[in-house]
Amino acid sequence: MHKLGKKQEQKKKTLKIKIILFLVICAIVLVTLPFSGLIENKINSKRTENIGDFATLIEKDCVVHVIDVGCADCIALELPDGKKGLVDGGVYISSKVKSTYQQNSVNYIKQYVFDGNENGTFDFVVMTHPDADHYNNYELIFDTFQINKVYRPPVFYNKDDDAQTQKEIQRAKDAGLMDGSETAFDENTFYTIDTKLFSKCLDKMYSEPGCEIVFTLAPTTADIVSSDALKPYTIRFYGPRHTCYPTKSYNNNNSFSALMTLEYKGHSIMLTGDTTKEEEKDVMDACDLPEVDVLKVAHHGSNTSSSVAFLNKIKPKYALISTRTDTNKYNLPKQEIIDRIISCGVSEDNILQTQKSGNLVFAIDSDDMYIGATTEVVVKTIKWWYVCAGVIVASGAFIFGVKIKTSKRK
Ligand SMILES: [Zn+2]
Repeated sequence: MHKLGKKQEQKKKTLKIKIILFLVICAIVLVTLPFSGLIENKINSKRTENIGDFATLIEKDCVVHVIDVGCADCIALELPDGKKGLVDGGVYISSKVKSTYQQNSVNYIKQYVFDGNENGTFDFVVMTHPDADHYNNYELIFDTFQINKVYRPPVFYNKDDDAQTQKEIQRAKDAGLMDGSETAFDENTFYTIDTKLFSKCLDKMYSEPGCEIVFTLAPTTADIVSSDALKPYTIRFYGPRHTCYPTKSYNNNNSFSALMTLEYKGHSIMLTGDTTKEEEKDVMDACDLPEVDVLKVAHHGSNTSSSVAFLNKIKPKYALISTRTDTNKYNLPKQEIIDRIISCGVSEDNILQTQKSGNLVFAIDSDDMYIGATTEVVVKTIKWWYVCAGVIVASGAFIFGVKIKTSKRK
């Protein structure tokens, strides 16, 4: 009896050790999961396919990279005076692909925007509006690159009795937006959202050393201009309109999107965020929008945007759409919008989508403008979470399998 008790005790002890060992393996494996994107980037091999002469194109004076981040926006600018800018730093929000897109877009920026420099400096970044698919990679971007200036939207974080809300009111006061003048903001009329991620992103921006933060409010927000007199370019903000807000209230934060143009050597592109038909109309009522060569289509080709009046006003020759139908439940771009863009004069061949062509590039040089694309084709695909599940199952079978065999023999 005593011997049997001792044996049972030994068995219990062994089982305990096995369970602990198994749990330790599970914990180690699970800890690697948030880094799936990083690991998959290292272990999966890729091949680059180019449309047009991509290598020559990115050496031009002025380059706009519409980076493939799924149904989301991340647009990097290389300007003729050497300045670098970023308009939105988002990736598609699905947790399945988010970390891969986040890492891919940062790698793309290092490789093509900063020519292999690991820690480049962005002279400015623009958060067009507070939708996660336009800013959910800013944490990694701010951790990787130096940021000198941020253009933030006039949309505020607010949650009742929250200390963060008070911070936002103070930020608006510091920016001179609550000076009691006729167009001043009032904390009761702020357009607010209470997304924690937005609040976190704002904190990240405001804590960046040496970074100036301005609110995008046309027409008071100054143009960004060239520091090289021989290579003059202009980035102009047309929306959101200060005069429409806070006196006019929108019911959709997309209507506060930065609507801007970049013009160089007689060629231009319009960047739109997720701007709505309502904002398009307000901007057209308030000012004379210029014609542009290229339009970054608003809201990933959704029918909330791109009105006929707006398209007829700016008369683009090319349309770039940042989207991926298979990763968004809204099935963007809408065929109705593609048809509308074609009916407004853009040929079908001149409508480029990141989901079909990969990273889109628009370049301007002294002689002309160019459109191209590069896409990274994954040749070998190993999903890290499959590896993790395999390790857990195999280690479980091995650890506890030994036990089953031993007990069967007895
Ligand atoms: Zn969006």
